[in-house]
Amino acid sequence: MRYRKLGNTGLTVSEIGFGTIPILSGNVPVLPDYCSPDVPEAVEIMMGAYKMGCNLYDTAIPEEYGDAEYKLGVFARQVGRENIIISDKARFMDGNDMFREVERSAENLGTNPDIYFVHQVDEKNQEETFSRYGALDALCDLKKAGVIRYTGIATHYYSVAERAARDSRVDIIQTCGNILERGIMDRIAENDIFRGKGLILNKVYAAGCLLSAFTPSELIGGVLHWPFSCALIGVGTREQAEAAMKEEYPPRDFTFEKVMSRLSEHFRPIPCTRCQRCHCPKGYEIHILLRQYNYYHLGKRYWAMKKMKMNIDEVYESCRRCTDRRCMADCPQGLMIPELIELLHGLAERA
Ligand code: SF4
Ligand code: SF4
Repeated sequence: MRYRKLGNTGLTVSEIGFGTIPILSGNVPVLPDYCSPDVPEAVEIMMGAYKMGCNLYDTAIPEEYGDAEYKLGVFARQVGRENIIISDKARFMDGNDMFREVERSAENLGTNPDIYFVHQVDEKNQEETFSRYGALDALCDLKKAGVIRYTGIATHYYSVAERAARDSRVDIIQTCGNILERGIMDRIAENDIFRGKGLILNKVYAAGCLLSAFTPSELIGGVLHWPFSCALIGVGTREQAEAAMKEEYPPRDFTFEKVMSRLSEHFRPIPCTRCQRCHCPKGYEIHILLRQYNYYHLGKRYWAMKKMKMNIDEVYESCRRCTDRRCMADCPQGLMIPELIELLHGLAERA
């Protein structure tokens, strides 16, 4: 295991972090799939990762990650609290709610978390999150009071990540990316505003989808040359921990063309990087729809189709009638978005 500085926080983190979704038990609608080990087994898996050099463990409140927070707390006591960094998160944008959630997390963990993120900040809830008395202000107050050590914003949106990078209250940004969905990582690498912030990456396996076409080593090595300090990998078994953490991964530049070529052995992928430059005046999130198409063909059929069917009929009808097609103006891939929407609509009709 190698280690990197986490922005200007003063923390040094392992390049591979432990994502706790797969160790949860409970009925929680999350991807990747989870393995539901009991507490002793979950602790043993986390201990195995620790022995391979992992020092960052990422979790969330029970409504989001089941009992993972509790299991991580048991592990923290066994391994020695000072030996690991705990990052936690809650999807609450109001300051009062966030105060309550951090307190609840500390109770579940049996210790204070080191890093606390406002979770799943998006383009609709960001105003409340960043506003006076919003969740970010609450985290700052908790940091001043010594309850947490660092504040964070976790988001799947580049625009939110950029806003967080410009905000001096934010220490760490957690966002998503992998060798296929590399658009946000590329934009972060190109923009100096992110330098000095701690950067943590999730969805390196694309919720497990990419494991059908790439090895863990390729997926992890493939992202390590982007300027992130830690790549979180969801781990639910000893084997998954070993696959993610046993080797040292030389940073390996998997070009987008190589990724497309590999995926083409399985299906005809849509070459969308999820850079999120396609703005639709009607607010349709094209990058999410195109992702469902690729995920569908990479094995997450039920989940991807369920998401796709939520609005594909409406988007298809709008795109058919749309004359300005503004979404295509800034697409670096030159994608014919209305035609792709038609492709998705046909797939949804047949499924
Ligand atoms: S459709 Fe184009 S602009 Fe939109 S996310 Fe994909 S690559 Fe980026
Ligand atoms: S074609 Fe028009 S309606 Fe469809 S996503 Fe693009 S801008 Fe939006």
